[in-house]
Amino acid sequence: MIPAAFDYYRPKDMAAVLSILEEHGDDARVMAGGHSLIPMMKLRMADVPHLIDLQDVGGMSDIAIDADKIVIGAMVTQAQIIDHAALGTKAPILSEAALQIADPQVRYMGTVGGNVANGDPGNDMPGLMQCLDATFSVVGPDGERDIAAREFYEAAYMTAREDDEVLTRVTIPMPSGGYAYEKQKRKIGDYATAAAAVQITKDGDTCTSASIAMTNLSDIPVYSEAASAALVGTAVDDAAIKAAIDAMLGDIDPVEDNRGPVAFKNHVAGVILQRAITRAWSRA
Ligand SMILES: Cc1cc2nc3c(=O)[nH]c(=O)nc-3n(C[C@H](O)[C@H](O)[C@H](O)COP(=O)(O)OP(=O)(O)OC[C@H]3O[C@@H](n4cnc5c(N)ncnc54)[C@H](O)[C@@H]3O)c2cc1C
Repeated sequence: MIPAAFDYYRPKDMAAVLSILEEHGDDARVMAGGHSLIPMMKLRMADVPHLIDLQDVGGMSDIAIDADKIVIGAMVTQAQIIDHAALGTKAPILSEAALQIADPQVRYMGTVGGNVANGDPGNDMPGLMQCLDATFSVVGPDGERDIAAREFYEAAYMTAREDDEVLTRVTIPMPSGGYAYEKQKRKIGDYATAAAAVQITKDGDTCTSASIAMTNLSDIPVYSEAASAALVGTAVDDAAIKAAIDAMLGDIDPVEDNRGPVAFKNHVAGVILQRAITRAWSRA
């Protein structure tokens, strides 16, 4: 498939990006790795007369780790997440999830910023970032603002980011305890039928905190506060896991599609969450 004709821009700084966005409004769109946007343009599902490539805009390609937080530039690729040794030690759930995205070719190009800004319910990083209680920083004509990942998603491809704003970085409070990213897909390289991100802390045999978010089971990622709360104060035994799964099932809203009917998706979501909680608990 060949996309409709478009003008291509490769600005050197953010001021130039914002000025092109301001000039062309809805007709302009930024591109990061292009591995979601270009296929949409080829399929004529996205019409982008003015395409702004972010590759030459500096300042968005670093990963910084300090005592209490991790800051990931929007242009950091999924492959860089996987290869970053310190990140693998401090927040291994990031590479565990990134390794389950597509294939190496896509991961060399696909960025963290593009994955979370896209608003595709099938993307793995939005739910992951909700689990980690991340904050997204965006810059626009009125300056910079922060938006919590848990508040960012409004509907499929609709987010709290305005069209004239660019996502610049993701900030994650330093995670602690056990973690797991569990994903069920039809084949290697596929988007999730269901995926679960879980972080758990414990004191002795008691769960002291839990965070659970689900992917591709609604038109937005689902951070399930009720499922998380169902584990806290328990020994994460079978009854507590069942309570968490029941709570999660009350929060998701899957629809029938080529990944299966609603009953199947609910079943898979339960199995995936059970596996993720069990693995996270064993690592806590
Ligand atoms: C075959 C294939 C399989 C895939 N499988 C998976 C999968 O299993 N899981 C998964 O999560 N993803 C999957 N993807 C998507 C892939 O991870 C994408 O690369 C990623 O979702 C988008 O990142 P990108 O950098 O390519 O963004 P782009 O395609 O460049 O942009 C995507 C959207 O985000 C916007 N955008 C990008 N960067 C910014 C920014 N900094 N600020 C504001 N808006 C921005 C763009 O305007 C566009 O609307 C797959 C892709 C392919 C081609």
